[in-house]
Amino acid sequence: MLEFDFIKRLFSPKPKPSELPKPVPVTPERRFDIRINPPGPNLPKESELLAESRQLLATAGATALAARVQVRWNARMRSTAGMAYWTKSLVTLNPRLAQFGAEEIDRTLRHELAHLLAHDRAGRRRIQPHGPEWRKACRDLGLADEKRTHDLPLPRRAAVRKYLYRCPACGAELARVKPMRKPAACIKCCRAHAGGRYDERFRFAAVKVNPSA
Ligand SMILES: [Zn+2]
Ligand SMILES: [Zn+2]
Repeated sequence: MLEFDFIKRLFSPKPKPSELPKPVPVTPERRFDIRINPPGPNLPKESELLAESRQLLATAGATALAARVQVRWNARMRSTAGMAYWTKSLVTLNPRLAQFGAEEIDRTLRHELAHLLAHDRAGRRRIQPHGPEWRKACRDLGLADEKRTHDLPLPRRAAVRKYLYRCPACGAELARVKPMRKPAACIKCCRAHAGGRYDERFRFAAVKVNPSA
């Protein structure tokens, strides 16, 4: 029903002010297309995050920013953990952060707040997104040694090394993600027995590997 009404309104001529329906109070459920507070026992409320943000910023000396900062969950974020919109003093967080625990939520919140704080302090001066001003802001918000990433801390899958090669002389093995395109020889053996030059005797030979590897 909601969608139908919405589409009808889109295509119908603009109503005169007198014909406008009374505004309906917007509940979180009705804002399904903008932002949702998805259910989850580990998901702190926006109000809690806001209270924490205000306290952190005030402690860092940015009282005006502390008063206007906003924090929202945005369920439409994909792999981005958080975003900072300094023109709006707004931080948005990806609800999927919850699956990485409260610490990740807090870390991301501080990372994004640091962007707002750095811009607030810089005024009109241009600054690098993750430059010294931001790093200083991170430290002032209790975040030492922050990495410069906005990606979710998803476990990065190590590249699968499917191709294995072995030196016929010393047995040294070499694992590769992609097959070797040029012949390569074992450097150890070439140094030891061929004056450091390529020698066919020590050329790596392909070894059959476990297909599940
Ligand atoms: Zn950042
Ligand atoms: Zn060798």
